[in-house]
Amino acid sequence: MSETIFTKIINKEIPADILYEDDEALAFKDINPQAPVHFLVIPKKPIATINDMTKEDNALVGHLHWVASHIAKEQGFAQDGFRTVMNCNEHGGQTVYHIHLHVLAGKPLGWPPYQEKLKV
Ligand code: 5GP
Repeated sequence: MSETIFTKIINKEIPADILYEDDEALAFKDINPQAPVHFLVIPKKPIATINDMTKEDNALVGHLHWVASHIAKEQGFAQDGFRTVMNCNEHGGQTVYHIHLHVLAGKPLGWPPYQEKLKV
């Protein structure tokens, strides 16, 4: 997998507003927030997309959700709630090819994300 901007953030080659770090994961604020709270939780292991996960990565991806909840509790918005999203490839809106969990919070969020009427 080719290196992305997130590898540079993991290696502290470029700055980020880091909220949490351990041996497996890193969480930092999104540079272009889409909600009052918007941060990303990424594995240190570079995995390009969800399609590139192996079964061995299951616990790692589960851990990203634990980190999201841990930060939510620490920052006091766990009870109000939040949304986690992992975009995959072009139709999913993925722009950085190193998997990342978006965590959005701070106000009631709209749903569904797809507003156009489906032709069925
Ligand atoms: P995607 O579109 O791949 O699901 O999400 C990529 C996210 O990474 C976007 O929300 C974008 O704002 C964020 N992002 C891209 N480059 C940087 C960066 O250099 N620093 C930070 N903190 N976030 C970034």
